[in-house]
Amino acid sequence: MPSLTRRRCDNPHRETWDVSYGDVRVGTIGERAGIPVGADQWGWSCGFYPGLEPRRHRQGTAKSFIEARAGFEADWHSLLPELSDDAFEDCRRDRAFRAEIRATRARGEKLPTEIYSSLMRCVCGVVFDSHKPDESYDHRGHIHAAYNTKATKRAVTKRPQRKEPQHGGPC
Ligand SMILES: [Zn+2]
Repeated sequence: MPSLTRRRCDNPHRETWDVSYGDVRVGTIGERAGIPVGADQWGWSCGFYPGLEPRRHRQGTAKSFIEARAGFEADWHSLLPELSDDAFEDCRRDRAFRAEIRATRARGEKLPTEIYSSLMRCVCGVVFDSHKPDESYDHRGHIHAAYNTKATKRAVTKRPQRKEPQHGGPC
């Protein structure tokens, strides 16, 4: 079973620690911001997302780092038996996905969803590259013809029906 490990965050304003369980970051312990003198200066947050719904995360405050760490560990040990392996797996998958996006951007490449495609599907069922004139010429004809047929049909069906004047009825 993995153990909890802490790593100091790069936060120049407040002491903050990331807490990990094995390779998954499961929460933080840190100095709280803007807290009046006399109130608890330390807090912890126990939980991770995706994998564990935010409403199931646990948090608390304490007078010192030592107390906050003890509070975190108590919360974690009551939470851990409720967690499935899938919860950790969700978190790892999400992390891998984000890392892949960052790596793609770092290489100056576009994400698959950002690549503009000039491929079109013709009404005849063939997929062609609309940026290649010789490839698309015939299909432009097909699409144009189909469009005209539709437009004609619409014009026919939408032609207003003239009502025969009814004599003798109420005007
Ligand atoms: Zn075609």
